[in-house]
This record gives sequence, C-alpha cells and structure tokens, in this order.
Amino acid sequence: MMPTVEEIAIKKVVLIDRNSTLEEAIKKMADANIRNIVVSDTVEEKHKYFMLTIDHLIDYKLGSIDQNISLKELDLPKAKVVQKDLSILNVLNEVDITDRYMIILDKNEILGILSYSDIINNIDPKILIKKQTIAKLILQYKAVTTYENTTTLHTIELMRDNHSDSVIIINNEQYPIGIYTTKDFINLVHKNSDLKLPIKEYMSQPVYTLNENATISDALDFIQDKHFKRIVVTDDENKLVGILTQKELLRIVYNKWIDFIKEEGNKISKINEELLSKTSKLEEKASYDFLTKIYNRQKFDSYLEYEIKKTNRYDNQVLSIMLLDIDYFKNVNDTYGHLIGDKVLKEVAKILTVCSRDCDIVARWGGEEFVLMLPQTNIEQAMFVAQKLRATVEKHKFEEIGNITCSIGVSQFHKGEEKEVLFKRVDEALYKAKSNGRNRVEIEYINELFEQEN
Ligand code: GH3
Ligand code: MG
Ligand code: MG
Repeated sequence: MMPTVEEIAIKKVVLIDRNSTLEEAIKKMADANIRNIVVSDTVEEKHKYFMLTIDHLIDYKLGSIDQNISLKELDLPKAKVVQKDLSILNVLNEVDITDRYMIILDKNEILGILSYSDIINNIDPKILIKKQTIAKLILQYKAVTTYENTTTLHTIELMRDNHSDSVIIINNEQYPIGIYTTKDFINLVHKNSDLKLPIKEYMSQPVYTLNENATISDALDFIQDKHFKRIVVTDDENKLVGILTQKELLRIVYNKWIDFIKEEGNKISKINEELLSKTSKLEEKASYDFLTKIYNRQKFDSYLEYEIKKTNRYDNQVLSIMLLDIDYFKNVNDTYGHLIGDKVLKEVAKILTVCSRDCDIVARWGGEEFVLMLPQTNIEQAMFVAQKLRATVEKHKFEEIGNITCSIGVSQFHKGEEKEVLFKRVDEALYKAKSNGRNRVEIEYINELFEQEN
C-alpha cells in the first residue's frame, strides 16, 4: 500500500508573510534550521503560497540583492499545492521534477510540506533494485569539484553555474576531502561571513563516501541512515567518481519501478496465456479415452445433455442411444493377453467411428462397452444402424484372434425424462440381447403410449 502524501509530509512548516523582508526570512530559516520557508500571501481571504529556498538565497547573495527587500518584490516560484489524500504515486505523476516542494493542504489549511526527498524514503524499492550498482548511474551525475584553496565566493559561483547544490572539495590525488552544500551556505549568509576566504574554512569534513559497487538499495540505506541529501561516490582507490542526489536516486528508482511493473505485467500476461493454452489442452485431453482415443464417458455425457435439451425444446426432435458390449471379451484377454485385448478394443472403436454417421457421437463407456448417441434418429432407424454395426463387427477379421461378436441395446429418448431413466432402459435392452444369446440387437420401448405416439 502506498501511503498518502499526508502521512509522509513534513509537518514542521515555517510560514512567513509575503510583506516581510528577505532578512527576516533568512533569520527565521537559520533559527529553525530549515532549507526552505513557505511565503504566504493573503489577498481577500485567498491564500497563495510561494517558496523561498536556499537556491534563491544563493542567487540573491551572488546578485548582491539588498536583504531589506520585501519578499513581495522577489520573483519567488509559486508552490505546488496538493490535497492531503493523494497517494505518492499520484503526486509523482502529477508534479514536474522541477516542483521540488509541495504544500499539502487539508481543504484550505496547510498540513505540511513535502519534498522529493520525503517521497524517496517512502517508496520501498529495495526488492526491485538490489542488484543494480550505482557505478553505471554515476556516469550521468558528475560532481562539481574544486580545491581547498578556492575562494568561497568562487565555490558558490561554481554551484550556481552548474545548477548544483553541492561542491566536492578534492585534493591533488582526486580524493574527496570536504563538501560544501547549500545548507552550509545559509549560515554563511546569516553570519555575513567573508566570502573571500578559501572554501576550506567553511567546508564540512570528513566526507562520507560510498563505493561505486554499492547497489541502489545500499545507496538508499545510506541516505536514510545518515540523513544525507546526496552520496559522494568513490572507486576502489577512493578517488571521486561522482555524486548522486536523493532526487536523482528517486528518479532512477521510480523509473526502475515502472520498468519492473511493466516487466512483471508482461510476465504475468505470458503466464496467463500459457495457462490458458494448457487448460484448453487439458480440457481437450480430458475429453478423450486414453486407450481408444475416442470420446470418454464425461464428454459423451455433456453431448447427451446438450442434445436432450434440444430434443425437449423443439418439436419433431428425436434422439436414440445404443450401448454395445463385446461378447465374451474376457476370453480374449485370457487367451491372448491384455495387450491383444487392448488392440481389439482400439479396433472396435475405429469400426464404430467409421461406420457411424458424422453427427453421431461414439464414446467408450468403460471396459469393453461403447455408447453411441444418434441425434434425429428414432428407435427403428437406430435399430437399423445397430444391426449394421453388429454385422460389421461380426464380419471383421481381427489380427491374431480372428472374429468376435457384440451385443447391442437400443432405446429412444422420451421428452422430459431423466437421462438416467433412458440409460436404465438401454441397459435393459443390452441385458436382453445378452440373455437372448448374444451377437444380437434388442430394443426397449418406453411404454405403449410412447409407442403409439411415435
Ligand atoms: P459378456 O459377453 O457377458 O459381456 O462377457 P465378457 O467376458 O465380455 O464380460 P465380462 O464383464 O465378464 O468381462 C469384461 C472383460 O473386459 C473383463 C476385463 O478384463 C476386460 N476389459 C475391460 N477393460 C479392458 C481394457 O481396457 N483392456 C483390456 N485388454 N481388457 C479390458
Ligand atoms: Mg461388459
Ligand atoms: Mg462383454
């Protein structure tokens, strides 16, 4: 679950009226130790918010702006206003990467402010980016560097010209020995320090660095643990490689995350496709008898149910079924073995398929029994088909065993009756065929009334 912006916003917000001076704003910022201050303008009960950040202060200092100037006269950027219940994802989609700060509102009341840095701490990308090292990323993010004897003024100019919020101070071996950031700058402005002094007077040291072989996940931990806004990245010889800011990390993480979602989405739809095709293959398999490759009992049942519905619904629809059982099949197995028995079953299945009509359904009922469904066929016509099948089986020369015979029971479906009743009848017909001497066809009518109707 992604948190809402309200949950992660920084609730410590310092406001200053737009009629105040720049100097008052700087004092408030230094006292509260914050990087930015919300400048509010109330015009006819309507609030407008602007942001005064350290970046602006640098510009003003370098441009020698009088600190007594009213904030109103400065060209401050309007702060992005976001309602409190938006999710971080929505905010990321909505705001531009240049919107560094957002003001979180509950209707018209300020709840907090939010920066990109806050967002990065609340997306858990660790799982996604555990393997990616920062070495590759760093190529894009060269650090602004200078030497310890550079004047502070020149160092600040370097920051401005490179649109960077930090400068790394290196020695002649390219080892980072200090860092100077916009945060250091605010105190300097406040104390009115001498900008002609070398930067080594004001830089922070030592510099905490991270090896370029660290993963993005390590980098995020580093930033979270140390509360740093940036990571100074070094190689195995401790030489400076580059610098990664939270903002850049966030962008990378976010992009990686989107890639990950896309990738996973693709994988999932592929798996889905495979599952679907496997399912239909399985369904296909589940319809056929393993030995004879004709339909099995389940499939026959579903065809029968469909056909019964049709017959019940429409006038002049008739339907017959027949049950066929091979005579003395046990003898075949006993004399020639099970494998030959299997072969015979396969061959009988073939005869039944070939000799029946296309619209008839032939299936293995189980063991040495087969079942046929004959749509649009009344009992007399079915009897005729059964006789033909019986005669074909009788005449057929089976390899190894010669001739076999079969008995067949036939019956017709009566509208409205249960399928089981029909089967009971056809079973009785088959029993009759057996008990009347085998190798014969018997029919079982439903009752006299039914006979008259048809
Ligand atoms: P009847 O004329 O009364 O039908 O005699 P029968 O021997 O055919 O009937 P019975 O029910 O006594 O025996 C059926 C035999 O069919 C027994 C069983 O071993 C055999 N059988 C059933 N399924 C298979 C199969 O898949 N392969 C083989 N080889 N034999 C099977
Ligand atoms: Mg049997
Ligand atoms: Mg039998």
